[in-house]
Amino acid sequence: MCANKINMATLIAPCGMNCTLCIGYQRQKNPCAGCNLDDTNKPKSCIRCVIKTCEVRKQTDSGFCYECSKYPCTRLKQLDKRYRSRYRMSMLENLDFIKSQGMNAFVEQETRRWSCLDCGQLTSVHRENCQRCGADTSGNPF
Ligand code: SF4
Ligand code: SF4
Ligand SMILES: [Zn+2]
Repeated sequence: MCANKINMATLIAPCGMNCTLCIGYQRQKNPCAGCNLDDTNKPKSCIRCVIKTCEVRKQTDSGFCYECSKYPCTRLKQLDKRYRSRYRMSMLENLDFIKSQGMNAFVEQETRRWSCLDCGQLTSVHRENCQRCGADTSGNPF
């Protein structure tokens, strides 16, 4: 999975999730296209997601939750808590980074942070081993 910078930028979900790091996006069979793209192969939970469908968010210029006056709302905080504890990442940190430093810097950081140290493949937040070479990525220096 060698998502280039342009592709990765289009695959950052409104909540701050980087869909290129999702196992649903990376799987070989029936991969999900990502939150911002079409719904084929997308799980129902992501189609019906209250963040994705939030009317307040849809009215923002950027389309990201950081522009909302309620940011971070309860739903977003719950999601962030789950990902912090289980998947070594934070939606809120991602959104704050994008807001303060821009999408290009975020994409560069994400590519550095999540590339396998052994083979260079983009790894998944949902797995602790590289999908290509099997290397243990749980201890990657961030
Ligand atoms: S399953 Fe959800 S989080 Fe994963 S790539 Fe698809 S839309 Fe993104
Ligand atoms: S932070 Fe604001 S825009 Fe995002 S889901 Fe919550 S209420 Fe909607
Ligand atoms: Zn690897």
